[in-house]
Amino acid sequence: MDARQFYINGAFVDPIAGTELAIMNPSHDTACGTVMLGGTEDGEAAIAAAKHAYASWSQTSLAERVALVEAILAQYNAHADEMADAISVEMGAPIDFAKSSQVTAGSWHIENFLMAVKDMSLTEPLGDHAPNDMLVYDPVGVVALITPWNWPMNQVTLKVIPALLAGCTMVLKPSEIAPLSTQVFSKIMHAAGVPAGVYNMVHGDGAGIGTLLSGHEDIDMVSFTGSTRAGRLISENAAKTLKRVHLELGGKGANIIFDDADEKAVKRGAIHCFNNTGQSCNAPTRMLVHKSRYDDAVATASSVAAMMAPNHAEKEGRHIGPVVSQMQFDKVQNLIQVGVDEGATLVAGGTGKPDGLEDGYFVKPTVFADVNNDMTIAREEIFGPVLSIIPFETEEEAIAIANDTDYGLTNYIQSTDPERVRRVARQLRSGMVEVNGKSRGRMSPFGGVKASGNGREGGRWGIEDFMEIKAVSGWDA
Ligand code: NAD
Repeated sequence: MDARQFYINGAFVDPIAGTELAIMNPSHDTACGTVMLGGTEDGEAAIAAAKHAYASWSQTSLAERVALVEAILAQYNAHADEMADAISVEMGAPIDFAKSSQVTAGSWHIENFLMAVKDMSLTEPLGDHAPNDMLVYDPVGVVALITPWNWPMNQVTLKVIPALLAGCTMVLKPSEIAPLSTQVFSKIMHAAGVPAGVYNMVHGDGAGIGTLLSGHEDIDMVSFTGSTRAGRLISENAAKTLKRVHLELGGKGANIIFDDADEKAVKRGAIHCFNNTGQSCNAPTRMLVHKSRYDDAVATASSVAAMMAPNHAEKEGRHIGPVVSQMQFDKVQNLIQVGVDEGATLVAGGTGKPDGLEDGYFVKPTVFADVNNDMTIAREEIFGPVLSIIPFETEEEAIAIANDTDYGLTNYIQSTDPERVRRVARQLRSGMVEVNGKSRGRMSPFGGVKASGNGREGGRWGIEDFMEIKAVSGWDA
């Protein structure tokens, strides 16, 4: 379970200037392997390989790129068990959840990109009014892809696959906290026959390789998923070279339970909040409940919290796992205490580890009632299994509370009145709105507004984000 090598120019290579970091198993607070954090020379070698490969890969046909992605999908599926083990150990996803959700998120995105690209072409006539004008979809260039630990393959595939299909070459820097899955992914890329230099991977941290990539003059675009904090630093550093910056950042989603919501709405919303131990950017962490349903909602959410007992990641079953790290554990504990101190009513969970789980970074699924939207727990992304329930009386009030946040990723509406659903969905300031538990369809764009970022991942939009449009007049000479 080591991540001691990088993948540069078509081969696994030893670091030139690496430093060691222990990979921690969050279920047991024990080191389970070592990742080498690359230094400047390693980053430079990866960027140079990607730059060299750009000349040929950027000129390939869409059919060649599709054939490569089909080979990657086959290899990805063939490595599913190894991938599930890696994800489960590195970030604490329970093994059955790792298999059923974490790993399949990657294959789902690869399949969806293959479906979306079928309707795309690298050239498109401007229109009948200008018969000699052609729009040419060029790759953006050499791209840096920086990913977090919480859904590792979800995020890696959402970047690597569209970048390949667009004709970009790339350097991927996965999270140093969860490097094992990307080590497996690099094996998959190698087995699929990715041409040398097209895909490169260097482990490293934000201050080192991350900063080198975002500031480098040979990198044309950074696609980043992670915290709003790092998104700001990357944007500032990237500005010097005027590169494109694509950001998928944090969230503080509102789940509005109207008086006419279906019976299962509250239970569904609470389960969704605690899913992946609350470590999802689109988690519905603020449950806004109409006064008429409020007491029932508090009772139901508390019983869901009791049902979602955490356990070790290697144990089979439908439990949730630990949070990813000691740092994340401390942050979540602190925010739960702040919730109590600021006067919210603790109705389930609380600080401290669950009985019998003192070894890992386990957090009790926690529910706060009587939260108001000014409290810290309603404003900050906690990234742990913590639900805040906020009462409302009118539709206008619910919309105002939902929009009163720095973030704007996913909001949720629970109502059986289609007119109301459409009216509210139009007014919510977020990149996505999910209604009555229906998740977004295949090839739907994922992304946010405000402090949740910009750009869209997934489907046609995810591929176009790695493209530049070149307008050519006189195409028929
Ligand atoms: P993080 O920002 O600490 O790290 C993410 C990645 O960025 C890591 O690879 C890290 O090494 C790198 N990084 C950190 N500082 C950097 C810098 N200054 N320059 C360049 N790279 C840097 O985030 P995390 O803790 O790994 O992930 C959790 C965060 O990610 C949460 O805020 C969550 O909401 C967000 N997230 C967003 C989405 C989305 O699509 N909107 C999806 C998943 C996670």
